[in-house]
Amino acid sequence: MRSQRFFITLAFSFSLLAGRAQTAQFDITYNSVPPALVTAFDDADDIWSQLLMSSVPIKVNVSFYPLGANALGITFPNGRRDFPSAPYADTWYASALANSIAGVELNPGENDIDIFFSNGANWYTDTSGTPGAGQHDFVSVALHELGHGLGFVGLSKKVGNEGSFGLLQMADFFPLTTSFPWPELDTLPGIFDRFLSDQQDGPLAMMPNPSTLLGSAMTGNTLYFNGPIVMAMNGGQAPRIYAPGAFALGSSCVHLNESTYPVGNPNELMTPFSSAGSVNHDPGLICLWMLRDIGWNLAPGVGVDEVPPTASFSVFPNPADDVITLTAPERMQNEHLALLDAHGHIIRVVPSTNTMDVGDLAPGAYVLRVIGSAQHVRFIKA
Ligand SMILES: [Zn+2]
Repeated sequence: MRSQRFFITLAFSFSLLAGRAQTAQFDITYNSVPPALVTAFDDADDIWSQLLMSSVPIKVNVSFYPLGANALGITFPNGRRDFPSAPYADTWYASALANSIAGVELNPGENDIDIFFSNGANWYTDTSGTPGAGQHDFVSVALHELGHGLGFVGLSKKVGNEGSFGLLQMADFFPLTTSFPWPELDTLPGIFDRFLSDQQDGPLAMMPNPSTLLGSAMTGNTLYFNGPIVMAMNGGQAPRIYAPGAFALGSSCVHLNESTYPVGNPNELMTPFSSAGSVNHDPGLICLWMLRDIGWNLAPGVGVDEVPPTASFSVFPNPADDVITLTAPERMQNEHLALLDAHGHIIRVVPSTNTMDVGDLAPGAYVLRVIGSAQHVRFIKA
């Protein structure tokens, strides 16, 4: 969901998509949506259709609704799990993503995404990205909500001190109801949740569910997304996730952290708050790399514009149990390497010798980076 933030900022926009082809198709149903907003929504789904690849049309149901004081939009993705070729078992995928992975429609007759937009917000409905003071750019908010519908979302919930995955019910969002049957979530996490990791206590999906440990991790202000692709592409750093001290259903654990990616940052789109007067028509590379981590295929050329230099060395075997062998060209042999954990923290610094003992490392994703350089490789400790 996206909420209002009450200050005015300078507008910024991108022309990222000039000349791209559509590699995914959206079929939209509009329920009493004003024509000007239909045009603006089509602009937003056009942007996503040029970034992602799917052979199955993505069915979206758009409604206008009195959402209350500060909410601009809220999105419910349909879900599927344990479908043929699902990368992770016992894990929910947004049905639009599941369909793109499976290559067939797994939910015939059901929408993939329900989006409710506030019918009381001061919307800027033009697509040119020049809202007036106090106006919310509808294309930006629609792009954000579609991001959730495509899978940038989890199944976290906190009641009292107890956090959980997969205990969400439609009633938690009363009086809203989805156009598709609410899936029986069976206390299972979503694929997005599988990459959430607390700085101290590690992966959330490894914690008892439900539990106070999970609840604490969801509100500790130290939550990160340790997907191997976004980390490798982001110089070894896991992006920080919004997890304030007070859990906010629909905002906590399903957005990039507001203060890490403030207005003006190219990765601001998937933060929880929208500023009136600001414009962002680009999901940003971190969001796109996170979508790759959860299983999306990006359109050719998308998400590779700012690839850090690939390493001139490699690691073998990968995944590794006890010892890794580094293969490096001669000129690297006096370099030092930093071993980073899933949060981008340096665990140790080693000379770029031939082998390294990794037997003591906890299982998971790690990055080896040349000190003073963006060159790095990723490896998995089995
Ligand atoms: Zn949101």
